[in-house]
Amino acid sequence: MTHAILSLRQVAKSYSMPGSSAVVVLRRVDLDVAAGESVAIVGPSGSGKTTLLQLIGALDTPDAGEVRFEGVDLAKLPESRRLELRSRRIGFVFQLHHLLPQLTVLENALVPAWAAGDAESYHGRALSLLERVGLSERRDHRPAQLSGGERQRVALVRALLLRPALLLADEPTGSLDHAGAVALADLLVALNRDEGVTLVVVTHSRELAERMGRRMVLEDGELRNA
Ligand code: ADP
Ligand code: MG
Repeated sequence: MTHAILSLRQVAKSYSMPGSSAVVVLRRVDLDVAAGESVAIVGPSGSGKTTLLQLIGALDTPDAGEVRFEGVDLAKLPESRRLELRSRRIGFVFQLHHLLPQLTVLENALVPAWAAGDAESYHGRALSLLERVGLSERRDHRPAQLSGGERQRVALVRALLLRPALLLADEPTGSLDHAGAVALADLLVALNRDEGVTLVVVTHSRELAERMGRRMVLEDGELRNA
């Protein structure tokens, strides 16, 4: 492994609910991802795929074990640094796009730059990414005027705007029809190749999984090669 952007060691995570016993979701998860790789994670519903992405994306911390991003143990960082990673170094795409309905396509794409206080310098990149995903002509439309696949492409542009090193996608094609899913998979592959963004993609779609460089299965709290 040349340069591991991501490395998980013996990661464990349970959820405890008041009045019932804890649910062990992740027992011992090990994972190494090199910069520029693309990895699919598959596994049954409820196996902990979303939980795993939340740990990788510094949205939550493990009960035991380590999640290292660019060599740094995320649990040891202050929340302010974790927030900075989540907003600048790590991009997220979810099954549902979470676009803001009152904003246009271009404005939605620019949200991360506004949040970073730097909309000006990313305007050109937002336009070129929209062009790249075939939505230049829709830039002044609102999410309600777009198809599911188009909305997901806007979500992808938004996630990549600040040039994150790592893109995490949680069932990004889950709400799309077949053509939309193929188009999104094409884009993910192309952006991984052209921008070098590392991909970790959770998916139920065999087709999307096959397009990634390698595949892992999450089952019984452990991650194995598929
Ligand atoms: P997947 O994404 O593979 O479907 P999840 O990571 O969403 O799996 O969930 C794994 C298990 O953890 C499920 O049994 C789910 O009900 C449980 N779970 C997930 N999030 C929470 C939470 N915040 N509190 C309690 N249980 C949770
Ligand atoms: Mg899930």
